Amino acid sequence: MQVYVEKPKCTGCAHCFDVCPVAVFEMKDRDSPEVNNDVAPENDKWKGSNDPALVQKWSGVQDGHRHFADKYESHSGGISVGVSGPACILCQACLVECEGECIVITDDSNNVYRSIYK
Ligand code: SF4
Ligand code: SF4
Repeated sequence: MQVYVEKPKCTGCAHCFDVCPVAVFEMKDRDSPEVNNDVAPENDKWKGSNDPALVQKWSGVQDGHRHFADKYESHSGGISVGVSGPACILCQACLVECEGECIVITDDSNNVYRSIYK
């Protein structure tokens, strides 16, 4: 399994980090040298700016998570990185919890699964 996050869309909600039973995701600060340490293609790497539509949708939402915060602190902020894609068991828990709809999983038969926020 390959797992990556489309970084410009990641709100930093950390839902993926919280629900994954096999610790595929790690939250990284936006200025961390490790923020692009997954298999995201070039266009989906973090280069310093978020998707404006997602910022408009989530920046004012008060749901207990800090959206688009630079630093990961305790339970939100930063950006998620799919550091352990091969461990994924395709339980799909992250795919329905991802606010940014920005998780992409490819299985060993090249089927692609994308997150859709429930
Ligand atoms: S689908 Fe994979 S990456 Fe997502 S929560 Fe389940 S095991 Fe973790
Ligand atoms: S659930 Fe989606 S939006 Fe939230 S931190 Fe994970 S990848 Fe980013």
